[in-house]
Parts: sequence; C-alpha cells; structure tokens
Amino acid sequence: DNPQPKKPSWIRVKAPTSEGYRETRDILRAGKLVTVCEEAGCPNVGECWSARHATMMIMGDICTRGCSFCNIATGKPQALDSFEPGRVAHAVATLGLKHVVITSVDRDDLEDGGAEHFAQTIRAIRHRAPGTTIEVLTPDFLKCAPAALETVVEARPDVFNHNLETVPGLYPTVRPGARYFHSLRLLQRVKELDSTLFTKSGIMVGLGEDRQGVGQVMDDMRAADIDFLTIGQYLQPTPKHHAVERFVTPEEFEGYSKAAYGKGFLMVSATPLTRSSYHAGADFARLRAA
Ligand code: SF4
Ligand code: SF4
Repeated sequence: DNPQPKKPSWIRVKAPTSEGYRETRDILRAGKLVTVCEEAGCPNVGECWSARHATMMIMGDICTRGCSFCNIATGKPQALDSFEPGRVAHAVATLGLKHVVITSVDRDDLEDGGAEHFAQTIRAIRHRAPGTTIEVLTPDFLKCAPAALETVVEARPDVFNHNLETVPGLYPTVRPGARYFHSLRLLQRVKELDSTLFTKSGIMVGLGEDRQGVGQVMDDMRAADIDFLTIGQYLQPTPKHHAVERFVTPEEFEGYSKAAYGKGFLMVSATPLTRSSYHAGADFARLRAA
C-alpha cells in the first residue's frame, strides 16, 4: 500500500452551515433531486449552496461505468423518470438560478445514452426559467449513433461541458471504458454543429500525470476548439479509490492558468478546489458581460 500524502493547508473545507445552504438543500430535497455536490462529496458544497449554486444530476444515481476516481455507485441504473425534467426546471425556477449545471451518470444501457432526456431537461428549464443560462456536463455517448450528440446540441444549452478528466496515458487506470480521442472529438463536433455554443472541459491533477502531459492536454483541447478549461486537485473519495499521487501547489496551478490563457482559452479556472462546476455561473456571467 502506498501511504497517502498528507492534505496540505490549502485544501480547506468549511462546514456547510449558512441559511442559504439550508434553503438550497431543502428545495433540492423537496424536488427529489440528486446533486453531484453531495454524491461526489464535493469540498465546495458549503460555499456553492450558500450562493444557491448546485449541480444537478439527472437519470439516477447509478452509473454503468466505474471510473476509479468517482464515488458514484456502478450497477444497473433505474428506469428514466419522465417527470424529472419538469422537477429540475421547477427547482431551477424556485432557486432563482442565474446559471445551472446539469450533469448525469453514464447510461450505456440506453440507446441514445440519455441524449433525449438531456434535451427535454434543457427545454423544460428554458420554459420555466427563461433567464437562466444552462450548462450541460454530459457523458461521452461512446456507444451511441452520432444523432445522440446532435439531439443535445439542438436543444441549445449555453455551455457544453464534457470532462477529459486526465491525461491519455492514465485512461486505462483512471477512466476505463472511455477513450481520450473520442471525448476530444465529441467536443470538437459540438462546435462544428453549432459554433454559437461555448465548449468546456476539465481535468484533475495529482493522479500521476506530469506538467508536460497537462500542457499536451491543453494543446489538444485548443486544437479541438474548446473554449473553457477547469483544472482541480484530485481528492480520494474513499481509500478504495485511485490514490492521490501528490498535492499540486497553488503556484503550479497559477502556472497552468497562465499557460492556458496563453494558449487561447477564453475562461480558465485552475486552483486546488476547482471543480468542473465551481463558480461556473459567476465566471460565465463575467465573460458575457465583457
Ligand atoms: Fe456542487 Fe460543483 Fe459547487 Fe462542488 S463545485 S458544490 S459539485 S456546484
Ligand atoms: Fe462517475 Fe461519470 Fe465515471 Fe460514471 S462515467 S463512474 S458518473 S465519472
């Protein structure tokens, strides 16, 4: 067994206690909604929920894949709930969200990978909360016909996010079942289908990659026309998950951020506690105002 490196001082988590946190929690519970904030044990839940920012996870809480960094259960997923898009839209309207991130488990069991359910959710939110900007964080639709991706793009989210998660060399151990170049190409196709959508992707660091590898992923992303980038420290959800190989220093994150802007990304978040959806709304609003 590899002893795990000690958590450094910059990985600090505030206990979630505020009134805003409780309100957000109650609205999400009332809507029977699953959030990645809770499922993934995200360290930012206190901050995000206090600011009424949450990432909703549709299509259940059981995934057909088993990535070694992820705390979501693997197994046979539940049947789709046709009322879920309406419940999500209701919660978005009740919370008064300016920006919402909608993600899902991977549904290799469905012929369209859940694309139509994503599209229905986008349309329901547009109807109930027309002022809310919508970001989808989708699976890779690896086993689906090209029409699946087109279905989601045609529903016109504002931001299309799909995470590469790590460098290609670590895919077999970190993201088995996925293909690095398939995921890159997916994002490139989104832009080809509709150049008015923003595309976004992210990776975790501290899994065993090196700086050169991170630079190469950034170059690959820019070659695929990806607009926004997130980089955050990987944290091990339980001792059974992939080990933390090292804690990347705030200075190294700062270096990644500078390098990424230099390569032409429009928006970059690279800090130890950055997650794919961290500050997504505020960052997007700033970009649109600029
Ligand atoms: Fe939820 Fe994302 Fe915030 Fe984490 S960073 S609490 S997953 S919205
Ligand atoms: Fe977790 Fe997504 Fe991998 Fe499923 S596909 S195990 S939800 S990271």
